[in-house]
Amino acid sequence: MSDSTLRIGLVLPDVMGTYGDGGNALVLRQRARMRGIDAEIISITLDDEVPDSLDVYTLGGAEDYAQRLATRHLTRYPGLQRAAAAGRPVLAICAAIQVLGHWYETSAGERVDGISLFDLTTAPQQTRSIGELVTDPVLPGLTQPLSGFENHRGGSTLGPDAAPLGRVRHGVGNGVGDGTEGVVAGSVIGTYLHGPALARNPELADFLLARAIGTDSLAPLDLPEVNRLRSERLAAARR
Ligand code: GLN
Repeated sequence: MSDSTLRIGLVLPDVMGTYGDGGNALVLRQRARMRGIDAEIISITLDDEVPDSLDVYTLGGAEDYAQRLATRHLTRYPGLQRAAAAGRPVLAICAAIQVLGHWYETSAGERVDGISLFDLTTAPQQTRSIGELVTDPVLPGLTQPLSGFENHRGGSTLGPDAAPLGRVRHGVGNGVGDGTEGVVAGSVIGTYLHGPALARNPELADFLLARAIGTDSLAPLDLPEVNRLRSERLAAARR
């Protein structure tokens, strides 16, 4: 790996990676390589300390027990916190939103302290939110609807230092009746969208990639199969 290689951190895929969320790292790598940018995925497992020097980080969803193991590890090895403080882009999916908040309560009613990268807390909703989720992004720089599917019992309440990623058009998002989806704090973005989110939402992928590389613009990629996937899933949400 040369010095110019883009290093994509796939954080704790051994415990956080439900619904193929590891695909987010693959999408970042592929969209970089298609533009002639050398890129590698660095997997950080429970056997590894979390490095603070990677260019971009992704974390996936998890079941309650696995989520606790991840929380303990990220607390013990605070490389992700240092990377976020240095402005490195981070994408946190579903359970990872909850772990990156101040605390979350599991469906069994146990409260677990998170790592406080997001000003939010999470508690179980009356019922599990499952299904297609479509939102209109409110993060400047994003213009296309975001699509994915959600499957979570926890509902997250944002504090004053957390902005939502989008407004819900279809589905639940952060919580029943709340109307917001996801969270943004500096360079850290969280969303309940699985899919994987970056396969379904190339604009979000390139948003993260551009920040990881440190550029304002990336050459556009024309990928008809990605457009087909997007239109098919957006149509599924209208059914
Ligand atoms: N265990 C968490 C919940 O149910 C997160 C689920 C997930 O990541 N899909 O809320």
